[in-house]
Amino acid sequence: MDNRSSAPSRDSSELQQENERLRDALRRMERILEISRELTGLMALEPLLHRIVSLGAELTDSESASILLLDKRTGELRFRAASSDVGNQLSDIPVPVEGSIAGAVLRSGEPAVIADVRRDRRHYSAVGTQIGFETRSLLAVPMKILQHPVGVLEAVNKRGSGGFTAEDVEVLTALAAQAAVAIENARLVEELRAAYEQLGQLDRLKSDVIAIASHELRTPLSLILGYSALLRERLDDQTGPQLDVVLRAAMRLRQIIDTMINLRYLETGEVELACTPFDLREEVKAACEGYRSLAEANGVHLQMQVPASPVILCADRDKVRLVLDNLLSNAVKFTPWDGRVQVTVTQRRNQAQIAVADTGIGIPQEQLERIFQPFEQVEEHMKRRYGGVGLGLSVVKGLVEQHGGRVWAESVQGRGSRFVVVLPLGEVEAR
Ligand code: ADP
Repeated sequence: MDNRSSAPSRDSSELQQENERLRDALRRMERILEISRELTGLMALEPLLHRIVSLGAELTDSESASILLLDKRTGELRFRAASSDVGNQLSDIPVPVEGSIAGAVLRSGEPAVIADVRRDRRHYSAVGTQIGFETRSLLAVPMKILQHPVGVLEAVNKRGSGGFTAEDVEVLTALAAQAAVAIENARLVEELRAAYEQLGQLDRLKSDVIAIASHELRTPLSLILGYSALLRERLDDQTGPQLDVVLRAAMRLRQIIDTMINLRYLETGEVELACTPFDLREEVKAACEGYRSLAEANGVHLQMQVPASPVILCADRDKVRLVLDNLLSNAVKFTPWDGRVQVTVTQRRNQAQIAVADTGIGIPQEQLERIFQPFEQVEEHMKRRYGGVGLGLSVVKGLVEQHGGRVWAESVQGRGSRFVVVLPLGEVEAR
């Protein structure tokens, strides 16, 4: 009778223990899940590392926890964070992969539980001596990303009388897995941020170089142009043409500098529009006349089609001319001998449309938007057959948008291109 009654009572206490164990395991899993969510939200590396080590110490009931990350350049492990007061002193101390417990864990990919490190000959005691911290017991687990070792998470000096348990190994391993992913993400975010920062610096540098170069070049160039023009008047027909070459080169240079200055003003928002009403047809005619001799010299037929009645635009006349000049200059430049450039003006309700179409080399489809960015050219710089610095279209885009208009390019490669500008007819508000 006694025997029968004692057997079920032992079973039920075992069951109770098993239940308790399962409940504990469930609690730990829930905590890990909670931690995983928390770590995913931490994007800055330093706070993330500190949170991981404080969780490591808390979950394993240890005096301290630390993270060592593999330095890919040197192949060494380096302390990156520790939960106790020694954290700052540990920062960046290297630990050799050969001849340390952390190194052995990194290489084997397996956790290590050491009841007394002083008896373990792999223990790298130099760090403890350096910072005055005594390590007694140690639990070290590897941190991996897709099976690649990236570091080691350590819990040091288990509190109380017992050593590290199987549950401690389980929970620290789970934390290390979450931590490795979170650290990798934070590193990527930091790298991306640094790259953006660098890009921003380069962009500022580019703007400064343009600003300084353009303003510093302008004054001496004005002198060259002024004195060359004066000299040209005095020279005879024999030596005059030689100076014409100088004059044309200097004028081309001034055009480039003016484009650079315009671009800079557009980028800094310093462009001021002086809007007046004028007949767009007249400006288009004048621009076409300006390019007629160059077109003829290149064997390009330049044609123009405008409405019979005036197209009155309220806009900055000089800036509209600059837009036309840039588009015409490109159309003539990129069209081979015997090709055609056609400028068409149309008016639709409250908008004027200017289309500059050519039968030139065309533009690949994937470059149609990119060419409106500064310094973007379809041809590689080293293999260029056509002149130009790649700023004209970005100035065109900036000026058109400043007027509240749009510009885009259409093209069939090898057959020709068509640039379309749409401008509102009415008064533009200051932007
Ligand atoms: P640039 O003409 O000084 O190089 P742009 O900003 O005016 O600079 O033009 C950028 C690039 O767009 C040109 O280098 C050229 O590759 C392409 N492009 C512009 N207009 C045409 C066109 N009409 N036909 C073919 N390609 C063109």
